Amino acid sequence: MSEWQELDLLLGGEAEEASWQERALCAQTDPEAFFPEKGGSTREAKRVCLSCEVQDECLEYALAHDERFGIWGGLSERERRKLKKRAG
Ligand code: SF4
Repeated sequence: MSEWQELDLLLGGEAEEASWQERALCAQTDPEAFFPEKGGSTREAKRVCLSCEVQDECLEYALAHDERFGIWGGLSERERRKLKKRAG
């Protein structure tokens, strides 16, 4: 692969990432709900995720980037860990 092709791929990837984040429903709500304190409620955030049109992209992103904190794609950190384990 040429350097240019690599660059293109890189930029393409970034453009894709940016586009789903622009449609993120949580951006219009209280971001703190998505990063609750330990033991805090995640219900409100998960409810928002359920009506978010980019839930799949968001979850995939979080899994791919090993996001440690917060609610992503409707799943908590612990739930994502479980999902990853199950996926092998
Ligand atoms: S799925 Fe949830 S965390 Fe992800 S962008 Fe949508 S509202 Fe935000």
